[in-house]
Amino acid sequence: MQEMTRREWLRMMGAAGLFPFFSNFLQSDEPTSDLSASIHIPIDPNNPAIVFDQSKCVYCGACRRVCRRMMSVDGFYDFKKTGNQPICIHCGQCSTVCEGEAIVMRPEWQAVKAAKAAGKTVVVSLSPAVRVAVSEAFGQPAGTFCEGEVIAALRALGADYVLDVSFGADLTIIEEAKELVERLKHQSAPLPQFTSCCPAWVEFCETYFPHYLPNVSIAKSPIAMQGVVVKTFFAKQKGLDPKNIFNVALTPCSAKKFEIRRPEFEVEGMRGMDAIVTVRELADWIRAEKVDYENLSPSSYDSLLGEASSAGIIFGNTGGVAEAILRTAYYFYNGTNPPNEFLQFSAVRGLLGTETQRPGGLKCATAVFSETCSIKVLVVQGCAHAREVLEQLQAGTIEADLIEVMACEGGCVGGAGLPRAKTIPYLTRAMRQARIEALYARGDAAPLHLAHENPIAKQFYAQTIGEMEMRKGAPLLQTSYASRAADLGE
Ligand code: SF4
Ligand code: SF4
Repeated sequence: MQEMTRREWLRMMGAAGLFPFFSNFLQSDEPTSDLSASIHIPIDPNNPAIVFDQSKCVYCGACRRVCRRMMSVDGFYDFKKTGNQPICIHCGQCSTVCEGEAIVMRPEWQAVKAAKAAGKTVVVSLSPAVRVAVSEAFGQPAGTFCEGEVIAALRALGADYVLDVSFGADLTIIEEAKELVERLKHQSAPLPQFTSCCPAWVEFCETYFPHYLPNVSIAKSPIAMQGVVVKTFFAKQKGLDPKNIFNVALTPCSAKKFEIRRPEFEVEGMRGMDAIVTVRELADWIRAEKVDYENLSPSSYDSLLGEASSAGIIFGNTGGVAEAILRTAYYFYNGTNPPNEFLQFSAVRGLLGTETQRPGGLKCATAVFSETCSIKVLVVQGCAHAREVLEQLQAGTIEADLIEVMACEGGCVGGAGLPRAKTIPYLTRAMRQARIEALYARGDAAPLHLAHENPIAKQFYAQTIGEMEMRKGAPLLQTSYASRAADLGE
């Protein structure tokens, strides 16, 4: 008898219903028309973020559990009402836990390669979290700082310019901070203000809580801002034709594949980013091109959009977004820079909740702006927790001025596009914690800590939008969101 592969064994066990955790779902490997009863999470073939290969599924059911428990999506709609159409916020966490590797990121690195071959100028920008995670795919421990090696690998793969999304994050911080101060001082929109940089969270709010959309910041995400700034300000400074730029972001996040295709993010019919490559895809690309990653000499960013403050760098961590916004909001509120405690705002740092001490739990803090103004801050990890917080807000049992929400536990450092461990559990809390610490260490050691003091950001505002402090309609940096409640068929 031929030796059975591990996957064949798992498939047999799963189909026979021998895994105890299968008990909630139908135990069959036959495709079923009743999607609410299938063991695996149903995935639309046109899903822009992830793809599903039924032949690899081992029927472990892990994808449905994470979608339900962490994201609060599966089980929170009725397939009969949606016409058997799955609801998905594109977080990708089902691919992180997938035992059979049946769910993977929809790959885009081949499109980057094709663009290069077609003579395009390839520009790649690194999201904050990737610099503490790429080397895990090549055997290094979680949290290994590898920014220089990643830049070198991208250059070896054909990138003409390598830039830092932390620059875009600095712009997001400035816009969100201005908006928070306007809500506080001029009641320009309701409080609390929700952060908007996590596309899976924004989609969750559009779908399940659209009446809270006026609370979601209109600032575009760092990748969205970086995208349009590369094709306008950067292209002009470097003498490049924006139409010939193929603009790529290297991310920890599959939901960015959905976000960059939002029509409301376009400026004069032009998309900012053309492709999203996750770190797991980058590792495949490096191996396919036989780049010797382990022996690369570190490289550094190209000028202009390779310069960022520590506020932009810590954006990849849970609590990092809130901390970064508070630093600059203090400046816009008072006209002076914040005291040192704002530069290491420990109450919102780390995985643990402040009251429960539970990993992934709710963090609560107060930031004092003046004798008469204290900002109540909440930091939320996971859309299931966001659902709880929103329900408490509705019930009036919780209060806040600023709420950071990240769909993934740990923030972007827990993103599904980052490398998995070789065995179950594929993404541990220790891995998230190591990445968090490495990113804070990098941020705390940076020479610049305030987004509004980034000299290139100042130059950008002066040349394109006007005074940083003035709030004008700025389609390059701002957007709007609309309800998706109709998708639920209710
Ligand atoms: S990507 Fe996220 S929301 Fe979509 S099916 Fe997977 S876990 Fe659920
Ligand atoms: S996690 Fe993967 S292998 Fe397990 S049921 Fe879902 S798709 Fe199949």
